[in-house]
Amino acid sequence: MPAASSPRPGATSTDARRPAADPWKLDLRELGRRAGSMREWNRTVPAPAGWGIEMIGVPAGAPVQLRLRLESVMEGVLVSGQVDVPLTGQCARCLEPVSDTLELDVQELYAYAGSTTEATSGEDEVRRIDGDYLDLAPLVRDAVVLTLPLAPTCTPDCAGLCVDCGERLDDLPADHSHEVLDPRWAGLAARLTEPEDSAEGPRPGSDRTNPEEN
Ligand SMILES: [Zn+2]
Ligand SMILES: [Zn+2]
Repeated sequence: MPAASSPRPGATSTDARRPAADPWKLDLRELGRRAGSMREWNRTVPAPAGWGIEMIGVPAGAPVQLRLRLESVMEGVLVSGQVDVPLTGQCARCLEPVSDTLELDVQELYAYAGSTTEATSGEDEVRRIDGDYLDLAPLVRDAVVLTLPLAPTCTPDCAGLCVDCGERLDDLPADHSHEVLDPRWAGLAARLTEPEDSAEGPRPGSDRTNPEEN
């Protein structure tokens, strides 16, 4: 009788062993500590709250796609790969909602406790492995926040809003304008439209010799 019905090693998920289900904490026990050991880690995990700046950010719970490679090295674990992060925000020029996907490359060494790298680095200089787990959230959050545009726009050349009526200029005809005279020129404009008293030629209407009226 063939043994095909027995479960293959590695086919069972290790997720059940993960403590308190923080999806950003990556279990290193499968990878092991042997230098050169390597593992792919492809997951979609929900974004935590608070990843953003004033005009744009990652909505809490939005699906963040991680396509990572974990490589065991002497000093720790090298994490590298791509991260796709959904963004929502507001156009800094016309205030329309904007949404986008940020595609980031990440590469980071997480140091083992007690490794030379950990011992010779300051608290903030290197990311650390916490027991059997590695927390990906701070790495991705830092990469995202550093990349977010301070003034996001709905289109690269968004023209913004009309200063007079507040409508989006991109939604208005190209010749959109308001016939509002600058008050500094209003007096001059009035003088130019007044009939002139001392003109050299005949005043309009005072001369009946216009040939077109014959
Ligand atoms: Zn805009
Ligand atoms: Zn207008």
